[in-house]
Amino acid sequence: MKQDNPSDKKLTTASGRPYLENDNSMTVGPRGPILLQDYFLHEKMAHFNRERIPERVVHAKGSGAFGTFTVTHDISTYSRAKIFNEIGKKTRLLIRFSTVGGEKGSSDTVRDPRGFAVKFYTEDGNWDLVGNNTPIFFVKDPKKFGDFIHTQKRNPQTNLKSPTMMWDYWSLNPESMHQVMILMSDRGTPYGYRHMNGYSSHTFSLINAENERVWVKFHIKTLQGIKNFSPEEAEKLSGTDPDWAQRDLLEAIESENYPKWSLKIQVMTDEQAKSFPWNPFDLTKIWPHIDYPLMEVGEIELNELPENYFAEVEQSAFAPAHVVDGIGYSPDKMLQGRLLSYPDAHRYRLGVNYEQIPVNKCPYHVANYQRDGFMRVDGNGGGSPNYWPNSFDNIKTEESYKEPSMKMESTLADWYDRNAKGEDDHYSQPRSLFRDVMNDQERKNLIKNYAASMSGISGSKAEEITLRQLGHLHKVDGGLSTGVAAILGIETGKFS
Ligand code: NDP
Repeated sequence: MKQDNPSDKKLTTASGRPYLENDNSMTVGPRGPILLQDYFLHEKMAHFNRERIPERVVHAKGSGAFGTFTVTHDISTYSRAKIFNEIGKKTRLLIRFSTVGGEKGSSDTVRDPRGFAVKFYTEDGNWDLVGNNTPIFFVKDPKKFGDFIHTQKRNPQTNLKSPTMMWDYWSLNPESMHQVMILMSDRGTPYGYRHMNGYSSHTFSLINAENERVWVKFHIKTLQGIKNFSPEEAEKLSGTDPDWAQRDLLEAIESENYPKWSLKIQVMTDEQAKSFPWNPFDLTKIWPHIDYPLMEVGEIELNELPENYFAEVEQSAFAPAHVVDGIGYSPDKMLQGRLLSYPDAHRYRLGVNYEQIPVNKCPYHVANYQRDGFMRVDGNGGGSPNYWPNSFDNIKTEESYKEPSMKMESTLADWYDRNAKGEDDHYSQPRSLFRDVMNDQERKNLIKNYAASMSGISGSKAEEITLRQLGHLHKVDGGLSTGVAAILGIETGKFS
């Protein structure tokens, strides 16, 4: 978003008063002391003190760019969303990529999932697809999220990252097996952001003009080809160029080598959902491609760099709650948790009026009765009514936007049952990844990466944690567990 070039303007205070002097403070005599009335000085110092806003609690380190989504295939059978309603239609978008666990100044090349958040500025409101470069996640219930993230951050006593905390948690939560395997695979250290896929990970709904719902997963496949760093390359770059992925994205767009992805969907009907061998709304599971083939929707291209990083990337705010007509939620528990937690996090980080910040603002129609709050900067509705119903304005609700009801079981306030059918299988999908998808070299790398990470487990519980994790790996595949154990110097009999 282009701004006026301030270079031909006068220097002023924030309230517009021209500066008389920008180097020397106003003093009593040439040697001081400084006078309290030097407001130019106060404003300069005070604003500097307030430059930092809270960094995101996860996904703090990120890179972003603007671009275009172009529809290539007709999916109107499934969705009435206006963004999809014409082949060739283009929609402006913003993507923010990120690492997850590290702080804002941490390295881009660490072994970590990558955030892949897209904001489509559609005529029916902003649609945010807020996913990762992995089709699944570590936990399936939002109640676990805070605990899990604590294990990826710093130890409360030592302030160091702690493999012991990580593996303790993962080994006590076998539902994380699948995601941890992807993290430990070659794809755990992607070659920047251009050579990786993105996934909605969650199941969402698509709703068509007949008001019929199907379940959907979104896949954003890189057209640059998958490319990953070896652990050695990733580690070296962490020291020599910790901003490698930011630089790579910047240089590609600057040289007009625009990165592209293909947006695809998998679709499942209610009937299919009933006979799916797992819970189709479980965020630790994929839908096999053979049964739910990928369908093309369109192409994403990043072709415009932000003018200002803080304004347009740091202040960007994505939320899975932001869907548009024709796209809906699902009962995925993690999605349901994120519907609350993402907007909540933005209200804390950027303020209650964060949707008015230009990069987050819907460029089309917005009208409601929300008023006031910190940093309300859009005129606050002017003189129009701030309540509903009223006899003065003409704002309508739209019946045509009504979604079909979701047909769910009616058991009220049920707790998660670990042993319910399809809920306790944490092993067969990682097994399929290990045995059927990876080649020999990838399996070898995986085993090496598991062992390298698990060798960091230390302290009084080290043996217990290591054996528990090896036990889980053994349930996935005997070759995997014994391979890792051999590098760690542990006898097979201890865990099998
Ligand atoms: P397929 O053989 O049809 O697909 C395998 C998928 O695995 C491809 O999408 C491929 O991505 C991806 N893949 C390859 N290596 C890795 C890796 N190291 N980490 C993550 N993904 C990788 O198999 P199925 O659909 O039957 O799934 C089998 C297993 O593949 C699953 O259990 C899951 O672990 C994994 N997988 C499945 C996905 C799905 O949505 N069905 C998506 C991603 C992974 P690409 O095409 O980009 O090379």
